[in-house]
Amino acid sequence: MRNLRHVRTVRAVRRNVAIVAVGFAALLVGGVALPAYAQATALPAYVAPKLQSLAVSAALPLPVISRDTYSVTVPPPLQWPVDPGSPISDGFGPRIAPCAGCSSYHEGVDFDPGYGATVHAIAAGVVVETNNPGYSALGIHVAIEHVIDGQTIVSAYGHMQVGSMKLKVGDIVHAGQPIGLVGSTGASTGAHLHFEIRQGGTTPIDPLVWMHAHLG
Ligand SMILES: [Zn+2]
Repeated sequence: MRNLRHVRTVRAVRRNVAIVAVGFAALLVGGVALPAYAQATALPAYVAPKLQSLAVSAALPLPVISRDTYSVTVPPPLQWPVDPGSPISDGFGPRIAPCAGCSSYHEGVDFDPGYGATVHAIAAGVVVETNNPGYSALGIHVAIEHVIDGQTIVSAYGHMQVGSMKLKVGDIVHAGQPIGLVGSTGASTGAHLHFEIRQGGTTPIDPLVWMHAHLG
């Protein structure tokens, strides 16, 4: 939008310059060659068609500019929440609960990109769950609902730092949007991102399998 506004501003300036130039020319002509009564009647008839043609041409290039802007800024529709090369400290599935309050069936995958690493939304969607500021085993977390390949999917991100996650239910999130920082809030034994994929919005499935299948 900044580019569009800029173009409009430039055009407005040019238009004003043109009006001033026309007026100045008319004054010169009137002052030198025409009697006073002829100057008063000639000026409006000359200026009107000039404004008309400028207004029409200004509208034409806008769709081209907005299309260029879109192609430059569009993010990948699906991406990893943190660097996929990060160590993985715990995979999906049954496990021995690593702490009091930790579950014995791990409903996500734990990435260890380091304390304070930025967590990104994997795709565009709508926030459907967050504990902020109440307590949850997932700590400071957010869940985002997406429609991907025609299916409803919820992605969830847990244990983020206090104060780093500012989303609330109903917020619109775009693909790749920073949503918080890796922390160790809730039932957690160290800084990591707990990442879930819930098929149909409710059934946790292995996030690594799902992500690899959809990222190609
Ligand atoms: Zn976990």
